[in-house]
Amino acid sequence: MKRLVIAEKPSVAQSIAKVLDCTGRQDGYLESDDYLVSWCVGHLVELAEPESYDGKYEIWKREDLPIIPENYQYQVASATKKQFRILKDLMHRSDVDAVVNACDAGREGELIFRLVYEEAGCNKKMMRLWISSMEDEAIRSGFEHLESGEKYDSLYEAALCRERADWLVGINATRLYTTVYGQILNVGRVMTPTLALVVQRDKDIKAFTPEDIFTLILRTEAGDLVSKKFKDREEAKALLEKCMLSGKVTITKAEKKEKQEKAPALFDLTTLQREANKKYGFTAQQTLDYTQSLYEKKLVTYPRTDSRYLTDDMEASLPLFLENAEKVSGCKPTEETNFRYVINSRKVTDHHAIIPTVTAGKADIASLPSGEQAILRLIAVRLLEAVSAPCVYAEAVLEGECAGEVFTAKGKAVVDPGWKDVAKVLEKKKTGSDDSGLVLSAEFDTGEEISFGQAGVKAGKTTPPKAYTEDTLLSAMENAGSDEIPDEAERKGLGTPATRASIIEKLVRIGFIERKGDKKTKYLMPTRKGEALIGIVPESIQSASMTAEWERKLLEIEREQYQADQFLGEITEYIQNLIEENRDISESQNRMQSMYEPVGICPCCGKSVIEKSKGFFCESNECKFALWKENRFFESMSKKITRSVAEQLLSKKKAKLKGCKSAKTGKTYDCFVTMEVNDSGYPQFGLEFDKKRHVER
Ligand SMILES: [Zn+2]
Repeated sequence: MKRLVIAEKPSVAQSIAKVLDCTGRQDGYLESDDYLVSWCVGHLVELAEPESYDGKYEIWKREDLPIIPENYQYQVASATKKQFRILKDLMHRSDVDAVVNACDAGREGELIFRLVYEEAGCNKKMMRLWISSMEDEAIRSGFEHLESGEKYDSLYEAALCRERADWLVGINATRLYTTVYGQILNVGRVMTPTLALVVQRDKDIKAFTPEDIFTLILRTEAGDLVSKKFKDREEAKALLEKCMLSGKVTITKAEKKEKQEKAPALFDLTTLQREANKKYGFTAQQTLDYTQSLYEKKLVTYPRTDSRYLTDDMEASLPLFLENAEKVSGCKPTEETNFRYVINSRKVTDHHAIIPTVTAGKADIASLPSGEQAILRLIAVRLLEAVSAPCVYAEAVLEGECAGEVFTAKGKAVVDPGWKDVAKVLEKKKTGSDDSGLVLSAEFDTGEEISFGQAGVKAGKTTPPKAYTEDTLLSAMENAGSDEIPDEAERKGLGTPATRASIIEKLVRIGFIERKGDKKTKYLMPTRKGEALIGIVPESIQSASMTAEWERKLLEIEREQYQADQFLGEITEYIQNLIEENRDISESQNRMQSMYEPVGICPCCGKSVIEKSKGFFCESNECKFALWKENRFFESMSKKITRSVAEQLLSKKKAKLKGCKSAKTGKTYDCFVTMEVNDSGYPQFGLEFDKKRHVER
């Protein structure tokens, strides 16, 4: 009899087949005397669309909501029907006695396999391959210790709940807001709270008014002693005069302490994505893609982890991992190392932190794409830093009094850089650059008086909050709602490490947020549409705490501490309430329109003209004025009506068009388009050419 092994994708199946000596190529699978190895292609089986339950759902109508299936239907994704057929046939082969789930060892991998198994009507023995590395040795050992499939039943339950909850919220809320506001408005369980974070930050920035602040500085032999911040320049000046009369500071506190700063812990996916964004400007998705590719090339361990530690049994092989990390990065750990910094089984749930594999030490790094090289080096350096000695520095605090006011100075000097020197060879950065050793050079006693020569008032301004980068947004997602979640809950925040990147990408793709800035630092800003959506959806959909609460319950389902039925019941109730609350919003009192910044004034009735997805429309329901983005007159010049063209047409009845291209002759030219509005309110367009240019031709 044979065992059928199913991997998540073809490349992973190849690696597994190689270890199992399963080399006979067939259509869609590999075969040997003992094994059949095949693969899924992403989610082969997915939840059916609403119209599969009832044909009437094909047209989106508010009165049909909520859509809550009693029995969930699944369908085979149309693009991958053939591969599903192959898997189904293999499962039913009479010489197959067991099926091994070798999909990624996590919630999504469990779901991908189980849905195929169920949909194919398979009832053969189910086993689970659970590994954290794609290296041959890890695969071999994984097959020697295959687990029973049933052990992961609760993980499957949690995965089903996650998928159904997302479907219920996504389908119902998206259809609700789309039908109310007359344009596609994607709403999602995790996506919308994430958008809300970005919109709120943008509001905070816009609402910010910088305030003047003044500090008084006394320049002494011990360094600059600084006063508290004053809002009033005159107050600071008055103090300066008093200080100048005295000319002396009395020391009230002089402290010098040696402190240690431990190296940061190893990378989980989120901290790796944040670091790579800070260092190289990679998006969260890019970092995930590079790391996944490195994983499949057997160069790093499993990427979708939320642990920053290694398991106790890895301690023995740690010297070997370090040796390979040195080869990969060209860096060395400090002379003294401590493995206890990185080993902690209690802080590892499914997978340990991401580290370079032993294979990585032998790999030809230079042949990898540059993004992968950068990520691999980052992971290797972090391992070396994490086991290295702490950075030791001396910190001095000096406090003095002058004219009844307290002045302070702080100084820091590195005594032993420790882990901070590990990456020195790569960064060419001088260590101890954060030194401000001034105060440290001299010793002072309390009560001692020191004189100062110069003194002055320094003017500054308070600074606004910063727009999110991918780095800071990931951090905000991770910590969102954490106030409401008990500390012992390990997984917090919006989404999981595995899904955060795709949520940011989706928000960009559907036009709710956009990336702005230079190549190195890109800020995530809300679009007008994104802002408007947050203006209309209720607090419960945009609040992080509800999503965080659901995420916590999913984890409890995984651990058999919560019932799946109860969870889905709560989601259903929530959806029903949402639809009920919005029953009375009429489509005419369209709050969203007024959220949009008007494009200009309507030439027919004088009300505002608003941008929608297909064009620019008068906000009044009685008025028919419209400028459609796709317009035949403009199309004849290979142009569309953009926002800027609409603005010009409304304000000046005339817009300049550059680089028009004649559909007939292919010639390019610049021109002016004029607009007249006829009695029925329809715009009529005309052409004008720049007179000077015309003469020159
Ligand atoms: Zn109008």
